[in-house]
Amino acid sequence: MKKTIEDFDLSGKKVIIRVDFNVPIKDGKIQDDNRIIASLKTINYAIDKGAKVILMSHLGRIKLEEDKNTNSLKIVADRLSELLNKKVIFINTTRGNLLEDAINNLNSKDVLLMENTRFEDLNGKLESGNDNDLGKYWASLGDIFINDAFATAHRSHASNVGIASNLPSGIGFLIQNEIENLNKIINNPKRPFAVILGGAKVKDKIGVIKNLINKCDYILIGGGMAYTFLKTLGFNVGASLIDDESKSFCLDMLNKYKDKIILPVDSIVSKELDGDITLKNNNELDNDDIALDIGDKTIDKFKGILNNCNTIMWNGPLGYFELDKYSKGTKEILEYLSKTNKEVIIGGGDTASAAINFGYKDSFTHISTGGGASLELLEGKVLPGIDVIDEK
Ligand code: AMP
Repeated sequence: MKKTIEDFDLSGKKVIIRVDFNVPIKDGKIQDDNRIIASLKTINYAIDKGAKVILMSHLGRIKLEEDKNTNSLKIVADRLSELLNKKVIFINTTRGNLLEDAINNLNSKDVLLMENTRFEDLNGKLESGNDNDLGKYWASLGDIFINDAFATAHRSHASNVGIASNLPSGIGFLIQNEIENLNKIINNPKRPFAVILGGAKVKDKIGVIKNLINKCDYILIGGGMAYTFLKTLGFNVGASLIDDESKSFCLDMLNKYKDKIILPVDSIVSKELDGDITLKNNNELDNDDIALDIGDKTIDKFKGILNNCNTIMWNGPLGYFELDKYSKGTKEILEYLSKTNKEVIIGGGDTASAAINFGYKDSFTHISTGGGASLELLEGKVLPGIDVIDEK
């Protein structure tokens, strides 16, 4: 078991918390502050316990000097201050005297946010490449390190693995909650257990399918990835998304698990993304049809199977949900699941955005905050940002 923030005496200590403040920003405004809100529990706990709180996060990618202008965490410091109802000291640098003096002048219960950790990526990817010296330097600024950024836990960066390797470390409440929910579903799901997979490519979901196929009762496949499976079965899928390099994997899975893998029977198709839409059965597609959402019969078929299940894990949208006319499948299954008492875990990334944006933020057992990280956990991989944390 990993140490958690509750295993430390934080009073008067300089506590570095790696949070995930990687929020979408457009025209200088935060579009969605869910990630900031998700980190409040850990931050408030540290404040209540009398810590000197030092927050670190990345924001976007920094490849060019001018990327710094649009990826400063200053705007996040302002929003955090509103949410905490408390002053947040923002330091617009990631190293040096200004930062060190500000940290040394902190009082118990003060909160400081340092500038975007990825500003250190400009000269040789020091943050993203987990530069040894940078990890050591950042660790020297604090007494205790708490990792609460689940969305980057599958990466080995200076601001997670680097610092944790050089300080006593624990996980925060957000990561604790993610691990508990995701591990429970992998190791001890209440059967029958269905996995819903969607999204663009089969390739990205091969690891999850391999890890969960023997642990679940059904894998329901929608989204772009369904059409590589259907093509493998001999259907003409027209101009739908095809992942040629995964065809032999699909064939193998269909041969071994034909009763477990549930595929669409009909789809919403169009000749082009913004063209007219038609509902077609699997055997009715023309060569120039693109299948962009599951059809009504498939929605009913999926609901029928889910109805018999107690646990559902969902990763990947069932159609090109960014356009309203291809979002029906994803919306209807969300709506259906939101009205049941089943254990429903929504993976991070696009599926989480769909669930939140379509109004189901509070309707499920758990919505993961990490796309890549939740996928890697479901693949059975070890996440370096968590693995590095001290054991109890
Ligand atoms: P992923 O990151 O692999 O989960 O893929 C998510 C993306 O897959 C989203 O941008 C969806 O719009 C896209 N997607 C879902 N269904 C389809 C489809 N039938 N055809 C093309 N793209 C799709």
